[in-house]
This record gives sequence, C-alpha cells and structure tokens, in this order.
Amino acid sequence: MRNALRFRHGVHPPDSKTLTESLRTKRMPFPDEVVLPLSQHAGNPAKLLVQVGDHIERGDMIAAADGFISAPIHASASGVVEEIGLWPHPNGGYQDAVRIRVDPYSAQVPRARLLPEWEGLSPKELVDVVRDAGVVGLGGAAFPTYVKLMPREDTDIEVLVVNGCECEPYLTTDHRTMADFPERVHLGIRIMMKCLGVPRALIGIEKNKPDAIEAIRKTCPDDLDVEVLPLTVKYPQGAEKMLIKALLDREVPSGGLPLDVGVVVQNVASIATIAEAFETGLPLIERIVTVTGEGVAKPANLIVPVGTKLIDLINACGGLTKKAREVVLGGPMMGTAVSNLDAPVLKGTTGVVVLTARQIRAQRQYPCIRCGHCLDACPVFLNPQKLGNLAMAGRHQEMQDEHHLRDCMLCGCCSYVCPSNIPLSQLFGASRAALKRTAAPA
Ligand code: SF4
Ligand code: SF4
Repeated sequence: MRNALRFRHGVHPPDSKTLTESLRTKRMPFPDEVVLPLSQHAGNPAKLLVQVGDHIERGDMIAAADGFISAPIHASASGVVEEIGLWPHPNGGYQDAVRIRVDPYSAQVPRARLLPEWEGLSPKELVDVVRDAGVVGLGGAAFPTYVKLMPREDTDIEVLVVNGCECEPYLTTDHRTMADFPERVHLGIRIMMKCLGVPRALIGIEKNKPDAIEAIRKTCPDDLDVEVLPLTVKYPQGAEKMLIKALLDREVPSGGLPLDVGVVVQNVASIATIAEAFETGLPLIERIVTVTGEGVAKPANLIVPVGTKLIDLINACGGLTKKAREVVLGGPMMGTAVSNLDAPVLKGTTGVVVLTARQIRAQRQYPCIRCGHCLDACPVFLNPQKLGNLAMAGRHQEMQDEHHLRDCMLCGCCSYVCPSNIPLSQLFGASRAALKRTAAPA
C-alpha cells in the first residue's frame, strides 16, 4: 500500500501564486544588452573564450566549463562584446561578466546546427550533449545537470523523481512549464531515464496546480513506467530530501545524497531544458522567469534571455508600482533581496518578486521564549533554538560539529514560525559563511 505521501514538520505560508499561476508563458522582447557572468552555476566559473569587439551569434559558446563541476556559458543574443569586467551580480557582489550589445537589426536566429537524434545516441553521448549545452538545475541551485546523469557505477538507481512541487510562495515557473510544455517535460524524462538506465519515474506535483497535473497526466507515455502523484501543499516539499520522503517514504541519511537511497531528483524545468537541447540544438540561453508581487505593474511568466538585466525585465512587465520597496530573487522563503537592478537574470533565477513596504516592515526582535515552535517546524529535525543561541555567540564550529549545521537547508521554516522574530535561518547562513571563510586557504 502506498504511504500517505507526506513528510513531517514544515510550514504552510500563503502561496500567493494567484497573480501569475494562470498566465500563459510569453516571450519577452530582446533587451538592448545582456550581461553574462562567468559564475552562474555551482562550481568553478567558466573560462572566457571571447574578447571585446568580437561579434557573436545567439547560442555561441563564450566561456568554457572549467573542470568537472562547472558549466559553459553561451550568448543569449547576437551582438558585439562591448565590455568584459566586473559587473553587479545577484549575490550582492561584483563578478567577472561579458556584456554584449544586442544587434538591433538581427533576427536573433541562431546558426544552423545539427540536431542530435537522441534515440540513436548512447547514454554517454546523451550526457555529453547535456554537458555541452550548459544545462544546470533551474530550481535555483544551478548544479551542472550532466553530473547527476552519471552516477557512480556502484550505485543502483531505481527511480527518477521529477520535482514539480514549486512550494516557494509566488513562483509559478515550474507550474507554467508543466501546463504549457507538458510534451517537452515528458521528452526530457524519457531522455533522463535512458541516460540513467532507470525503469521508473515519479512526478510529484503539489495539488495547488490542478491544470499542470492534468496536462502532465494527459500526455503521460504508455510505454514507460511514469506516474504523476499529486501532493498536499506544504513547504519545503520541493527540497529533495522532503520530496523523496513524501513520494517514496525513504530517508536520505544525514550528510548523504538521494543516490544513497536509489533516487535521482531533477527539477521539472531543468528536465524540459534537457529536451529543448535535443529539440532545437540550442544550449541553455533562456529560461522562464516569474515576475510578480504587488510591487510590479503587470505580473507575468516570461521566457527571458539569460543575462537580461533585472531593470529591463521589470520594465517589460510595466515597471515598478508606487508601492514597490524591495526586489527579491527567488521566493520570499529562500530568496535574496537585490540592491542593484543592473544585476542580470542567471540560469538559476526562478523569479523576481517585488514586495511592498507593508510586506517588508521591520519587525522587532524579542528574546527566545523557548516555545519550541521552531523545533516543530524544522523538516530535518534540527534544534534551531539551540543553533540560534550558538550562532549569536559566534560558536559556529560547535554548531557544525555537534548540532548538524550541515544538514540545515536554510529553508526558513524556523524563522517563519518564531514568535520572537529571531532571524534563525539568516543566522545559520551567516554561520556557514563564517565557517567557509575559516576553512578557505589563506
Ligand atoms: S532553516 Fe535549517 S534549522 Fe531552520 S527549519 Fe530549515 S532546516 Fe531547520
Ligand atoms: S521559535 Fe523562536 S522563541 Fe520559540 S523556541 Fe524557537 S527560537 Fe525560541
């Protein structure tokens, strides 16, 4: 008998998706320029291949992967390289980037290229196409996808789990990917199953996306073991470990990976991008981004060239409203506020949420009252209250060695429920950063 399709703990923030959930995906016009940071994926930044003055076509590789955990970067528009240097990055700092002045007279048609006939390719050849297309996880982490497609030989993968939860409030990119491009999702699943040699796929979709569930169900293939499983809405169900628990009732051990329980998890938008690389021959140069919130005039789900500046994207949605106060990349639970709207959309940018003054008003912080709500909310059974005390005392190493800081997903559930408004997950993020600085070679 199937388990109850759930994981323990977690929270139920308002999903706030009504602004965009029913809006079909539209393509935004090409901006005047795109800015492509060399670091927009997990791992090493890509190595530059172009110089100022070069004319490049849409889809051309402008930077190559540097090492195993890295990804190439491709031009998202035809034009001329105007500048290579430091540029505002969504992470808050400045990073090396290539600025391309987009050719206003170009039809933006990529060079003719051979389409890889995926059915005739071996798993290794399929993985090579995905690697060369620069596909990374589009759910936010931007981990190079090809690495997930080549698990160690001693691992036995039984199930591909397709992550269609999109549990972050406001975001509807995965929702629209499934509702608008269901065949593409299924082609991507088929290709992934071939790469991994896995016989079964489960697609987990939260029940607040009935049209996506219907579209994906209607297009399910007859010749593969692919099943759609609607899930009760709960945050953070889209986290890999939570989704595996909900769908398969398996627990990934502390410090372990989904592979340890025979599972590979892939986000639904990344899967659709894999299919696109074979359908069009194009690398990852554009993605669906949700632009939403009460602070933007015309919320939308747009297909956006990677490298589009946030200000251009917001202006394509009618601009900011008078109420706008803060621009957040990603959702309000795990996203980060950006201070410079010249920062560009990256491969991993899921959404741009513009919040109002009412939504971001400062909340007074009080001492911990030991209510235990944070323990009841933590989906990985940590003790956020204890961790919070240690973080405030600067005892970061102790947090890691004795209280499993590494298992913290920075999901924000503990901060969300804390009646004393203690910014617990932010404290844990800062502790992690402090430990990283200490560990970095001088
Ligand atoms: S941020 Fe970390 S400690 Fe807090 S609920 Fe999430 S996993 Fe638990
Ligand atoms: S929820 Fe906040 S107040 Fe309650 S125990 Fe946790 S840290 Fe303390």
